[in-house]
Amino acid sequence: MWCHHQKKIIAVVITILLIILSGCKSAEPSPSVPGLPDLEESQKNNPSQKDIDYAQGERNRAEEQKQEDITTQIDYQKVKPNELGEVMIVMYHYFGEEEKDTWWRSFENFRKDLKILYEKGYRLISLDDFLSNNIDIPAGTSPVVFTFDDGTNGQFKLIEKNGHKVVSPDTAVGIMQEFYNNHPDFGLEGTFYINDEAFVGSAGTEKERLQYLLDLGMDIGNHTFGHTNLAKADPQAIQEAIGKHVEKMNNYFPNYKHSTLALPFGEYANSTFNYIVEGQYNNIKYKNDAVLLVGWKPSPSSVHRNFDPLKLLRVRAGEGVEHDMYYYLDYFDKNPEMRYVSDGDKDTICFPEELSENLRPEKVGDKKIITY
Ligand SMILES: [Zn+2]
Repeated sequence: MWCHHQKKIIAVVITILLIILSGCKSAEPSPSVPGLPDLEESQKNNPSQKDIDYAQGERNRAEEQKQEDITTQIDYQKVKPNELGEVMIVMYHYFGEEEKDTWWRSFENFRKDLKILYEKGYRLISLDDFLSNNIDIPAGTSPVVFTFDDGTNGQFKLIEKNGHKVVSPDTAVGIMQEFYNNHPDFGLEGTFYINDEAFVGSAGTEKERLQYLLDLGMDIGNHTFGHTNLAKADPQAIQEAIGKHVEKMNNYFPNYKHSTLALPFGEYANSTFNYIVEGQYNNIKYKNDAVLLVGWKPSPSSVHRNFDPLKLLRVRAGEGVEHDMYYYLDYFDKNPEMRYVSDGDKDTICFPEELSENLRPEKVGDKKIITY
């Protein structure tokens, strides 16, 4: 099946071949190429071998330039986009100089995480963009989502500096900012799942801290008041634990729309799960767009038929932990066909034709489907 892009590519390739062939056969001056200097008139009329070599060189360069233009439209067989592939939603908890247990990530190792993800072609996107399949990253790269549970001050902390509040460089956010300054194409995104008071020990009020994160483009998610084990709570306690967080966020930021919840301990009971998704506390009604599990697997793409935002899969941070980020980096290196790879166009859903049955039609919206 030839899609629109492929037809266009073929047309351009044929045009280039015709240009080259006509240049070889006739003594006519070569067509001028935009961006390249025209040859002197005398050279065109009386070409020496050197001039011919020069002209040929110019033509080759022009051809290379056109080839580059073509590849910006991407070679599907080479890039192998798979926008039905799997995405890692990485789950971080504690940060510090040392790793006290498997829930910790040292600052040094977090720097390594960012570097390795970047080098392996991963780009940070927000959880909301993942959920809505609004993924705007270059062709051939893969999205990755960061989540941070428990509002610990190794994740984020404001400090006073010259009368201003700035992010401590010795925090995950400080390290992400530093990395982003050197690699702006990596992105700066993350969702922070907070409990009662977030980032204790930071300068500023809680509202100021959260505002700072929102201003950076980060998101705040619900991890319940009291870090409540929702599997053991009755419907009233569930709605209170979830609703109190929503109430606080509504008071701080009335226009803030993000509503996702990370399950404390990853636990829930089937019999009361509906109250986790949707409920009411005092006058506050809530409805969560996504409920995040404690990690062990990458998530299918949000347009894959197996995608379930209400049992959203995550991958644990760390190395050698168990089904952690490094385990899956290796898994995707060995099984590249499983990995979400972008075609560079956020308005399309592009994947190998043989995967067509995995597409969830009702999630396509106004995006164009491209198969190859
Ligand atoms: Zn937690």
